[in-house]
Amino acid sequence: MTRRVTPGCQFASDNTAPMCPAAWNALEQANAGSMSSYGNDPWTARACDLIREMVGGHAEVFFVFNGTAANSLALAAMCQSYHAILCHEVAHVETDECGAPEFFSNGTKLLLLPGAGGRLTPEGIAHAVERRRDIHYPKPKVVSVTQATEISTVYSIDDLAAIGETCRRYGLRFHMDGARFANAVAALDVAPRQLTRDVGVDVLSLGGTKNGMGIGEAVVFFDTTLAAEFAYRCKQAGQLASKMRYLTAPWVGLLESGGWLGNARHANAAAARLEHGLRNLAGVEFIGERQANAVFVHLAEPLVEGLRAKGWQLYGFIGTGGYRFMCSWATTDADVDAILADARDLVARA
Ligand SMILES: *Cc1c(COP(=O)(O)O)cnc(C)c1O
Repeated sequence: MTRRVTPGCQFASDNTAPMCPAAWNALEQANAGSMSSYGNDPWTARACDLIREMVGGHAEVFFVFNGTAANSLALAAMCQSYHAILCHEVAHVETDECGAPEFFSNGTKLLLLPGAGGRLTPEGIAHAVERRRDIHYPKPKVVSVTQATEISTVYSIDDLAAIGETCRRYGLRFHMDGARFANAVAALDVAPRQLTRDVGVDVLSLGGTKNGMGIGEAVVFFDTTLAAEFAYRCKQAGQLASKMRYLTAPWVGLLESGGWLGNARHANAAAARLEHGLRNLAGVEFIGERQANAVFVHLAEPLVEGLRAKGWQLYGFIGTGGYRFMCSWATTDADVDAILADARDLVARA
């Protein structure tokens, strides 16, 4: 079979990567014969158990096709239409989900908060809750954080514990968009439960796609009372896979092998290599402090044009005005070195 790839797209997104072998092999095994449908199969049961094991015990787990569904259905499960969700102004739920959280919750309003490094703060949350408590304003109900954040930083355990404490003080639910949760776990070198259950997270949107799967995210309820009737919500939204094993087998592959963490470590390391190579290069200015698997930079215009002319796809990031170089489980040292060589060549000839 001929391999068809899009040249130069390696750093445009972690979604340009193929499936990793652990996920692919599990998918192949799940294809071995007939099996019960709609999640009543051993792969799905095993995937649920492995995710529970990963997050430290009791939890309700659901599987959906993508992160927009995971986030918006999770948020809808926690909100009435007159409620509000507090999130960062660059949060994916705000900037990249086409209003799905508002749609699936029948009108719940997102309230956008600023915060250095893409992170919410306890003070910012407290201020947002306290500035209005009257009947004319939607009632804050959920805090949604992104871990790792949209700009490749992470919340520390202490950051999250303080936010969890603020949530308890104000009677708010705590949601985590973990599209890149594995990258945060790898960056901090902690146990998954320390970033979720132990700090009071109620619901986690757990990313599979960017971690090395082909399709699929999980919704993990730590407060299992919130999961009541969630299966109906998924079905109504078109998010109940009939051949569920194809969504869940890759989770088994990634979790049983430990590949989920290995993939994330690899992606973070690739970003570190790229960051290191870009240091001290004229025309490159770093935006923020990288902790996970992406490097954000302002680039001088000739560098932008030059890299594009050499065939690299560059992704301009809305939130920061610069360019985002995203690394994945599949990013090789050779990929990193190739783009660095092109950048150095352009700078030398400028
Ligand atoms: C990629 C991503 C998602 C999921 O996006 P989908 O395209 O809906 O799968 C959610 N949150 C963040 C922060 C992401 O980067």
